[in-house]
Amino acid sequence: MKRARAQLLDAGSTDSDAQDPFDVRFETILGPAEAVLAGRKVLLFGTNNYLGLTFDAGCIEQAVAAVRGDGTGTTGSRIANGTYGSHARLERKLAQFLGRRDVMLFTTGYQANVGILPALAGADDYLLLDADSHASIYDGAKLSDASVTRFRHNDPDDLYRRLRFLADRPGDKLIVVEGIYSMLGDMAPLRELVAVKRETGAFLLVDEAHSLGVLGAHGRGLAEATGTEGDVDFVVGTFSKSLGGIGGFCASDLPDFDMLRLASRAYMFTASLPPAVIAGVTQALETLERRPELCADLARNAAHLYEGLAAAGFALGPTISPIISIRLNDTGLAAAFWNRLLQVGIYVNLALPPATPERQSLLRTSVSAAHTPAQIDQAIGAMTSIGLELGVLQDPSERYFS
Ligand code: PMP
Repeated sequence: MKRARAQLLDAGSTDSDAQDPFDVRFETILGPAEAVLAGRKVLLFGTNNYLGLTFDAGCIEQAVAAVRGDGTGTTGSRIANGTYGSHARLERKLAQFLGRRDVMLFTTGYQANVGILPALAGADDYLLLDADSHASIYDGAKLSDASVTRFRHNDPDDLYRRLRFLADRPGDKLIVVEGIYSMLGDMAPLRELVAVKRETGAFLLVDEAHSLGVLGAHGRGLAEATGTEGDVDFVVGTFSKSLGGIGGFCASDLPDFDMLRLASRAYMFTASLPPAVIAGVTQALETLERRPELCADLARNAAHLYEGLAAAGFALGPTISPIISIRLNDTGLAAAFWNRLLQVGIYVNLALPPATPERQSLLRTSVSAAHTPAQIDQAIGAMTSIGLELGVLQDPSERYFS
């Protein structure tokens, strides 16, 4: 492990100020789109800060007021130590926003999956996971007593075959997919998956971690955008991305859903969200409801970056979304590219196998509604010139076919 990391750093260091991509330390965060790193101002293109709300004046004001009013922490779990009024208010508000009967808060998005999957699926049941699922989904499945089956990424036919194979087995089947996948920014084919769910009588959970506040006319996610909300039994989401805080949730219309609070260890045995976070997230949700134009700004910025990088000739993910990844097939090259970008003031994420689909090396960017067109042009310009310098792109004048 140690040696692999040293090799990676070596490969990435074209000069002495090379950074460790897995130990980035910002000195100052200047705003949702800018920070200081190694004494240099950098543009942030790797934050998941989709709506740029981390510095929203209203969210900060509410968070500060909550610290003053309710203190810095809850010092325990809601089951053992009690629920604050603000937890219950956020659950009600989120349920209203999503049009769901119940919402259960978790302390992180990771814990939402780790908590809800074992609570939903027991020993006789089956979890059908998209192969590219996030680690929290895999970990939640591991903690459950259910049998776990992976189906090919975004492949409803493969899912259907697997469900048909299980058709005679007793027990419930729960399909688990994501709205936007975090590595390549591609989306689940939700309408087709819903058709499979209906035909086979399975349940469906959609993790909208990267699509809440991003997709749909009201920002409710991919299910809203595809008109499939009525067929989604469980919505998982996180507050750490578009809502600029931390925390997670699961929402459902299931009649006894509330009972799961006593069946979910990740709900029961960890401290609840602190007052400042709840207040900031509640305000962020209100901002999202009041300013739908934020989603439109985000969509425009995503298209701007995607189209600029595609026109330059980079290999990208299949769809325009706020997660835009440059696919490279060489780990050392990806590390070198990542470091050169930092040297010219652009921060993106380096994502390497085995954590990536098809063992690709990715320069993963995420766009924010807070980016200006000039900042996006700057990122496209930097990526293009470094792409040419490192031989990832061909000089247009040297292309035979254009
Ligand atoms: N689900 C998915 C699909 C994710 O991508 C992530 C985080 N990247 C999580 C859950 C976990 O969310 P959090 O970081 O808020 O714990």
